[in-house]
Amino acid sequence: MFLWVLLVLLASSLQSALAQTIRSRWATAADLNTDSLSLRRTSNPCVEPESYVPDTSRPWLTPEYRIRINVHIINDTKKRYNFSEQEGRLWVQDLVAQANNRLAANQKPWLPPGNTLPALPVPFRYVLTGRPYVPGDDGIYFHYDDELFYMNKKARGPGRVNNVYDERQYERYGIQKDTVINIFLIEHHPDSIHSPTYKASHDGVGKSTHAKLVGQYYLRRKLTVLPRGDTLRFTAWEAAGLFNHELGHVLGLAHTWNMDDGCDDTPKHAGCWNFNEPAGCTEVSNNVMDYNAYQNSYTPCQLGKILMSFYQDRGTRRFLIPDWCFYDAALSWALLPGEIAELNRSVDLRGDLILRKRSTLIVRCTLSLPPGARIVLHRKATLIVDGGWITSRCTEPFEGIWLADLGKHQPRIVLKRQGKITHAKNPL
Ligand SMILES: [Zn+2]
Repeated sequence: MFLWVLLVLLASSLQSALAQTIRSRWATAADLNTDSLSLRRTSNPCVEPESYVPDTSRPWLTPEYRIRINVHIINDTKKRYNFSEQEGRLWVQDLVAQANNRLAANQKPWLPPGNTLPALPVPFRYVLTGRPYVPGDDGIYFHYDDELFYMNKKARGPGRVNNVYDERQYERYGIQKDTVINIFLIEHHPDSIHSPTYKASHDGVGKSTHAKLVGQYYLRRKLTVLPRGDTLRFTAWEAAGLFNHELGHVLGLAHTWNMDDGCDDTPKHAGCWNFNEPAGCTEVSNNVMDYNAYQNSYTPCQLGKILMSFYQDRGTRRFLIPDWCFYDAALSWALLPGEIAELNRSVDLRGDLILRKRSTLIVRCTLSLPPGARIVLHRKATLIVDGGWITSRCTEPFEGIWLADLGKHQPRIVLKRQGKITHAKNPL
């Protein structure tokens, strides 16, 4: 009798263990509820820069991105007018480090006066990137070319060779053009520098694929002697201001002082270089996309604009190191019980997405998860894909949707307005 009771107890505990495992499972196509009332949306938040302004309360939505760059120094064939290879390599490393330091030290905008805009963290850094198949390639290159080592400021208009817009440096020497932003350090023409009317300033240009910076070697050589006899030398920190400005163009930003740049938080202004420079200047901008002595501020909207392009295959996404394909549990997003959240922007989530009980998430744009990551839905949780797309933007799929503690109150997955879920290892 005792043995029999023991057997029954054992059997029932086995059964409940079995039920426990059945209570959680991968979602299948049968779990998807398609909302047939699929109205087209009238506006698309996925293409609004404001949607991408970093949300500091949810850092996992804006992880740090790494932008691949390389730098070319072009000198004349007699090696007279630009950095030597030894000096140039150190200069470029310092320049990139200082540009990244400036990104890390984003400042509050000075204009308009009295504004309450925050200094948000800048979620990207530059990484010098060589060709992986060339041993020792550090992404710093030296070329010797009497035709292309200089810029002629006076050659204006299209078709005028050697002006700053001349693309031949990029055409002739560009490396890994599909995945790396190429940056060229060239100089002013030696004859121009000797002309008393020519201002050999730090100039540049930023296009969608590459940038050019002009005059760093000359400015570095020249010592500025102050009235009291102190001397000043042009440093990589100063050079990095214009570096970030031209890279800003590559990343999709426009000037702010004289045009509508698509941002409401970058007012037009007189374009002063500094206080009382030129004389009478009192309102000075510190925005990176103006010409001023500071260039140390990205506004929230400017960051939103840069980030938005990071999600567009035809935007700047191709220049990013695909860190979003490597699972990082620390960058998971867990909605609190009962929380309701809307994703009106694309996201590269690097960890899991967890919807605790009774929470709701509405996905309106593209949400990418890395291989190894899963979506976990707890009791009464609701995942709504409203015109959006949940997928893995990597070669390998993400794990799938795990339905936890199933029972009477099953979680719900709703697809609206052609919302879709694809590229999951446990397919739906
Ligand atoms: Zn510019």
